[in-house]
Formats: sequence, C-alpha cells, structure tokens
Amino acid sequence: MTTIAFIGLGNMGNPMAANLVKAGHTVLGFDLMPENLAVAKEHGVTIMADAGAAVKEAETVITMLPAGKHVLSVYEDIAAKAKKATLFIDSSTIDVESARKAHAIAQKHGHASIDAPVSGGTGGAAAGSLTFMAGGRKDAFARAEPILEPMAGRIVHCGDDGAGQAAKICNNMILGISMIGVSEAFVLAEKLGLSHQALFDVASTASGQCWSLTSYCPVPGPVPNSPANKDYKPGFAAALMLKDLKLAQEAAQAAGAATPLGAEAAQLYNLFNQQGNGGVDFSGIIGFLRGHSA
Ligand code: NAD
Repeated sequence: MTTIAFIGLGNMGNPMAANLVKAGHTVLGFDLMPENLAVAKEHGVTIMADAGAAVKEAETVITMLPAGKHVLSVYEDIAAKAKKATLFIDSSTIDVESARKAHAIAQKHGHASIDAPVSGGTGGAAAGSLTFMAGGRKDAFARAEPILEPMAGRIVHCGDDGAGQAAKICNNMILGISMIGVSEAFVLAEKLGLSHQALFDVASTASGQCWSLTSYCPVPGPVPNSPANKDYKPGFAAALMLKDLKLAQEAAQAAGAATPLGAEAAQLYNLFNQQGNGGVDFSGIIGFLRGHSA
C-alpha cells in the first residue's frame, strides 16, 4: 500500500479517492472547494493545506480536474515539489495537446507519467468500475495499473503519451453521434405511429443495435434504469458531452481528420446546452429534437 496525493476531489475525484482509501492506501487530498474537502475527509482522505503539501509525501499523484488549463497549472506548481520519480496519473478529460504538455512537465522533473481518463461516470466512480484509457510509457503504465485497480472495472493501455485522451474523445464522439441517431429514430417512429417498445424490440436485436439504444435508451420504458425513466437526471450531463465533442473537434481540426457528423453533434449539443440544459442528461437531446419537428 502506498501514499497517494489526490488533487481535485469533485463529483468524480471524491468517490475515486474513497475507493483508494478502502483499498488501504493513504490518500492525501487537496481541492479548492471546502465543501468537497469535507466530503473527502468523511471518506478517510487526509486533507492537506495545498497541492504542494500533498505531493511532497506521495509516491503517486492523481489529478481529477475540469480541463487542460487546470491540469497544466497544477503540474507546473507540483512537479518540482514531488519526490524524484513520483508517478503522475492525470484522469481528467482534457485535450490531447495539453495532455502531452503535462507529460513533458512531469518527465522534465524526472517523474513517470500517464494520462488515464475514464468513462463510467459518477456511478462507476462510486462502484469502482470505471474504464481507464491510459496513455504513456510501458513502465509507467505497469506502475499505474495496481494503483488504478481499486477504482477500475477495466484498464486499457492505448499507446504513448496522450493516447488515453485520444481514445476517450474518439469514444465519446461515437457516443454523442449515436445518441442523436437513436433519438432521431424514436422521434421519427413517434411520427409514424410506431411504439417505442416496438422500435426497441426490433432495433435492439437488429443492425441498429448500439449502447445508446440498449443500455441508455433515450425514451422511458424499454431500458428501465436509463435516465429517460428519471426525468433525464444525469447520468452524464449534456455540458460534459458538449465538452468532449468540442475536444474531439479541436483534435480533428489539428490532425486534419474529417468528422462531419462529430461537428454536427457538437453543434446540436451546443444548442441544447444554450437552452439551459447543461445539467440535463445528454440523452435528453431527444426532447430538443422533438421540439424541432414539424
Ligand atoms: P467537478 O467540477 O465536480 O470536480 C473538479 C474539481 O476540481 C472541483 O472540486 C474543483 O474545485 C477542483 N479544482 C479545480 N481546480 C483546482 C486546483 N487548481 N486545485 C485543486 N482542485 C481544483 O468535475 P468532475 O465531474 O469530478 O469531473 C472531473 C473530470 O472528470 C473532468 O475532466 C470531467 O470531464 C471528467 N469526467 C467526468 C465524468 C462525470 O460523469 N462527471 C465522467 C467522466 C469524466
């Protein structure tokens, strides 16, 4: 068991840190929000005065922060304060370029580093069943794997520095596009007088089958635990989907990849968010599409 500094104890970071404590690690935590620190303390996290104080004692540093700029500013602050050869794990969802810069900062100071964004949401974070998509050198990944294990259902090494973030935004671009596709099919079915259940029964076992339909169905009924059955309470908030679709578009533009459907999905989620739906589950986009039907 080791000492882990955990920076960023929000909706995801707090339950993740709690699982590390449960696994027997000593977790030294820091966040800017006192209310999040109070929750962490209840979970057995030792609260530190600042990020620098947390990393001084640690063999591993985990960050779970909103965006690339936060990760880079925290890395600039802590890289020189951490013990030599500390393992840096960034699990935030950030742009690939910032992820590679974060690796460079850590490595310049003699640390090992991986980017390891997650999917599975707050439910997966609480259950310790997150999927980690990791990028970084093989030896850094080998060190990280047993640390991630108490928080994980699955851990995939995707390649070199930044490959975890690349996998995450590609996956979530598929998810955003497929949720819009499934929602459009239900809206069309409604217009054609076809019941939700009938479309589900056919498409869920036919060529239209996909996760957005069979695990996260955007209409209430066919999948009893999908957010559609709970008035579209997230789940995975539309604001976070928009964030990931924008990251995918930035990456596509920088890399010269054609992603016309990804661009359209980003535009639709942008409009959906602008109507005050940032806190609604992303499957609520079906209501927006209905609203635009004749
Ligand atoms: P959150 O806003 O609840 O938590 C982020 C935390 O970081 C906040 O508590 C904030 O105070 C803290 N923070 C910001 N700057 C800091 C600094 N300089 N030092 C210390 N703490 C700082 O967000 P979240 O939902 O926990 O998401 C975290 C990351 O995980 C994001 O990158 C998000 O895209 C990603 N993610 C979220 C989900 C989800 O369902 N919530 C799922 C997968 C991935």
